[in-house]
Amino acid sequence: MSDYDDLYQELILDHHKKPRNFRRLGVEACTCHADGRNPLCGDQIALDVQVDGEQIKDIGFEGSGCAISTASASLMTEVVKGKTKAEADALFHIFHAMVTQGKTPDDPEKMGKLLAFSAVGEYPARVKCATLAWHTLHAALNGSHEPVTTE
Ligand code: ZN
Repeated sequence: MSDYDDLYQELILDHHKKPRNFRRLGVEACTCHADGRNPLCGDQIALDVQVDGEQIKDIGFEGSGCAISTASASLMTEVVKGKTKAEADALFHIFHAMVTQGKTPDDPEKMGKLLAFSAVGEYPARVKCATLAWHTLHAALNGSHEPVTTE
């Protein structure tokens, strides 16, 4: 394992132990909500988003799951906060291609810390853990009221 991988491991463990934006938004603030679960691993997430016009003003989540799912949700909230819905959607597609097909992003800089999950593709059982939060965000932003499941 390279130092580079170690760094990513540490980042994931750090976000697992101290998830960022780990809170529900109030009823007043929350404009979009979705629940997601990954029965394969037992990961669950409840995601609240505050959208103002096209911009994601605030975002928070609660849930329980493995290190990968919690860290992925935590990093996702950090990355998409302040972005537009379209930008968040674009990141979702790049992230998805990265973990499911091992596709290197055209613009790795833009992915920032999300690159920590690039190695997840080598562990097919973990892919759903890493993408759960993103699928849930997609559902929340698109006004889907059906709970998201990775199955
Ligand atoms: Zn998991």
